[in-house]
Amino acid sequence: MKITKLTTYRVPPRWMLLKIETDEGIVGWGEPVIEGKARTVETAVQEFEPYLIGQDPRRINDLWQVMYRGGFYRGGAILMSAMAGIDQALWDIKGKALGVPVYELLGGLVRDRMKTYSWVGGDRPADVIEGIRTLREAGFDTFKMNGTEEFGIIDSAAAVDAAVGRIAEIRSAFGNEIEFGIDFHGRVAAPMAKVLLRALEPYRPLFVEEPVLAEQAEYYPRLAEMTSIPLAAGERMYSRFEFKNVFHAGGLSIVQPDLSHAGGITECVKIAAMAEAYDIALAPHCPLGPVALAACLQVDFVSHNAVLQEQSMGIHYNKGAEVLDYVTNKEDFHLENGYIKPLPKPGLGVEIDEKRVIEASKNAPDWRNPLWRHFDGSVAEW
Ligand SMILES: [Mg+2]
Repeated sequence: MKITKLTTYRVPPRWMLLKIETDEGIVGWGEPVIEGKARTVETAVQEFEPYLIGQDPRRINDLWQVMYRGGFYRGGAILMSAMAGIDQALWDIKGKALGVPVYELLGGLVRDRMKTYSWVGGDRPADVIEGIRTLREAGFDTFKMNGTEEFGIIDSAAAVDAAVGRIAEIRSAFGNEIEFGIDFHGRVAAPMAKVLLRALEPYRPLFVEEPVLAEQAEYYPRLAEMTSIPLAAGERMYSRFEFKNVFHAGGLSIVQPDLSHAGGITECVKIAAMAEAYDIALAPHCPLGPVALAACLQVDFVSHNAVLQEQSMGIHYNKGAEVLDYVTNKEDFHLENGYIKPLPKPGLGVEIDEKRVIEASKNAPDWRNPLWRHFDGSVAEW
């Protein structure tokens, strides 16, 4: 079997799908994207194309190494996202060629159902309680929300009280009937992370995500020393070589590699196994589309330490399209009390509505995250 063609489709709300074709008629789908930089990743995919055309798509390990090592420069958000989507499509082809789901090729299921959680609220945490009420009717009992709005390197008692007060209200409205993680989203710097973590402890969040940015990962062990809240991070780390450093340094309880950013299934299975050796849980990042979600589930279902799967059904970012809009086997993604079953179809288990993808790609918007500024006019982390 030989790879004959790569085609990318940028689609709403902010995703990109990749179709890889073969001379035997088997087609694989991937989702190579960085939110807000889809065109840049698209170019990176095109630059990988000469390494792939004419090659056997079943030699995934070799093609991964060719893409990673063959170009001298490697790593980072753009290249690893391009590789991730290509890798997903290759696994899809291999599974379809052999007539089995990818998790069978990775050794088989370690669980029968996977717990998912749902985002609640917008970027500005308001009406969170109402949002949780609605999602509970849909069966969810585990949520994630942003912890703060813009937050200064040093900020006021009022800002701390506003952030903590919101969480206190949520816990008191629902008691222990729900669980929630709090995403600091890189908005909080090390000096205030200490203050917030200590103040949030009584409300027992499942985890605090990106308590500081990944580029300040040296703080993770120090913050973990002073709080009982499990710390999570990983959506802005792109390979096992980056994760190696945080595993070694300690501090994280949960790692959140993104299957569309961190080199795909081939790389994230390894990251998951490294995490297991350190007693660290896995919760793949996925505010993306259906192929990314299907790829995450392949890893979750073979990783003993996978605890939670993010998914973007109904997320506030999805303006113009929903996760299952591009999927024909929607029933396979059915959530029951927040759990999803192994996708039964061969390959990644997602059947793409190509006509709809082509149509949607004709008017794809260039999504950008908002640019926030502090009151004094300086740029704030979003
Ligand atoms: Mg996050």
